[in-house]
Amino acid sequence: MAIGRIISGQSLNEQEETFNVSLRPKSLDECVGQGSVREKLAIAITAARQRSEPLEHILFYGPPGLGKTTLANVVANEMGARIRCSSGPALVKAGDVMGLLSNIGTGDVLFIDEIHRLSTTVEEFIYPAMEEFRVDFTVDSGLHAKTINFPLKRFTLVGATTRAGLLSAPLRSRFGMLYHLEFYDSEELTKILSRSAELLDLHCEEGTLELIADRSRGTPRVANRLLKRVRDYVQVKGSGVLSIGIVQSALEMEQIDPLGLDELDRAVLRALVTVYDGGPAGIDAIAATLGEERDTLEDVVEPYLLQIGFLRRTKRGREVTKAACEHLGLKLHKRKSKKDSDQPELFEQSEK
Ligand code: ADP
Repeated sequence: MAIGRIISGQSLNEQEETFNVSLRPKSLDECVGQGSVREKLAIAITAARQRSEPLEHILFYGPPGLGKTTLANVVANEMGARIRCSSGPALVKAGDVMGLLSNIGTGDVLFIDEIHRLSTTVEEFIYPAMEEFRVDFTVDSGLHAKTINFPLKRFTLVGATTRAGLLSAPLRSRFGMLYHLEFYDSEELTKILSRSAELLDLHCEEGTLELIADRSRGTPRVANRLLKRVRDYVQVKGSGVLSIGIVQSALEMEQIDPLGLDELDRAVLRALVTVYDGGPAGIDAIAATLGEERDTLEDVVEPYLLQIGFLRRTKRGREVTKAACEHLGLKLHKRKSKKDSDQPELFEQSEK
């Protein structure tokens, strides 16, 4: 059974997409955080504009919801270029890419999300497109097959991935700029939230946005989603104004704890303790125990738990830390030696 979660950072439904698009910053100045990435981008954009040249290809990588798509749109906006968007799994055949590339103008941005999921055929097809702005496209098949060398306009490919490690070396090396996006601190998230609250015409008492920011696991998409849940709650159960008490009640209802962990995070940690004696346990085994997708655990759950020191990644698998046990109220006991007990126990549970 998969556990639904507010903090997935993935699979936006239509309503959330509309909500997010309207909150998405359009210029570099409107973006909050990621100081060093923004600075490098600003320099590259200014230099390219001064030379009237398209930007080099850019790869953004990092956990979901940190702003990869947003930055791709910002780059296009700042360059005064059009953006065409697709994603790795959607581009199956060379013809799918050809459809996109043949319509692209000079300086336009081609954004490919989840670029690590491109098929090898498509990947090899886009190498010459990225490097020499031409593609060899085969039309017809069998005896009548012929290859047409198709020149392209000089475009900028912006790739986004949650798993830079899965990108093949040849594809990786064709990007001129590779930027890792970091989790946001509480102050940055509060700024993002106050911009969003203003756009949504929300009235907030002092300290309320900080409270939401602290529970947003360093991720703007989570922050905006929580704000939306709180907005609904306040509208139905409160006076329309965000107060500390009502925000706390709304977050409690969503089962978001003071560190921003939700039921799935807690389930992962609990499974490690109760089923795997604290670990190490393989990610596939944990995913199978919880009935979740391995990708969801790796992309969405793990990065934050690693970041806050609740999980350790070792060669033999994932291990829970003492800090995580303390947070969950699981008592950590040293494994008894074999001679003390025939059935050694790592942890004794006394969950809060
Ligand atoms: P990703 O592509 O990395 O999954 P997105 O670009 O879709 O993440 O970002 C998710 C949402 O978070 C956006 O819709 C936007 O509202 C917000 N967001 C992301 N980065 C920023 C930022 N730097 N400043 C303000 N809001 C941001």
